[in-house]
Amino acid sequence: MDCQHLYIKNSIKIHKHENDPRFVAQISFACNECNLPFQFLDLPSDNLALDNMYQPSAPGVGITALLPIIPMQITESQVSDLLKMESSLTFEVEEKV
Ligand SMILES: [Zn+2]
Repeated sequence: MDCQHLYIKNSIKIHKHENDPRFVAQISFACNECNLPFQFLDLPSDNLALDNMYQPSAPGVGITALLPIIPMQITESQVSDLLKMESSLTFEVEEKV
């Protein structure tokens, strides 16, 4: 396969449980040119339940990550401070040679 997989498409879906403040982010990546899926590393694969809101997992062969998330319990001014801090942490992805 000659593709270098440098153009990556993603799919992100958010699932909400009715009786719990948690959400589950369902995330996957694939090469936009050859469609080869990316595999998540070092996430447990033995948890098959989409509604598991307590542990990150990558069920089966690991091409979909299920990540529990929750809205932060902070005030609006704290959100502003947090976003300033986050923007200073952004970085560009560079190709390793
Ligand atoms: Zn590719």
